[in-house]
Amino acid sequence: MAECDSGYRCRICGVPVDEIIESELYLRYVLCDVQIDQLADTPEAHVWCNGNLAQFIVDPAFDHPIKVDPEHDKSAMDDATRRLVESVVTRAWKRLQWLPESGLDVTRYPLEDVVPPDDPEESLKVSTRLGDSTRLDDAERRS
Ligand SMILES: [Zn+2]
Repeated sequence: MAECDSGYRCRICGVPVDEIIESELYLRYVLCDVQIDQLADTPEAHVWCNGNLAQFIVDPAFDHPIKVDPEHDKSAMDDATRRLVESVVTRAWKRLQWLPESGLDVTRYPLEDVVPPDDPEESLKVSTRLGDSTRLDDAERRS
């Protein structure tokens, strides 16, 4: 994303990822799945090209056909876990859409209430628990 002139190509479809709002890498960064020092050398992808992740974005504004590996299909998850992951990933995706206008420094892109994942499941629980009361959510609702 830093190299605007050449752009980073999607590791899945090969087309350049033009904007941060399309970036699966930055979505994972917002989710604390990728750390800031990994952004430069982690392969890019479009959000919708990683269907295993994109299937958890539940928002009418996210309207792309996606492919999901059968063994990662969310329909195989139990309801509580699926809803939990959907809520966190959808919130991260909405934040991603808002980041270009947010004026935030890149170090503040990650969801503030998601703990860097020593234990990803635990960090998801934390973020859901704090979920709707954060300032971030208020900012997102306004946008
Ligand atoms: Zn792609």
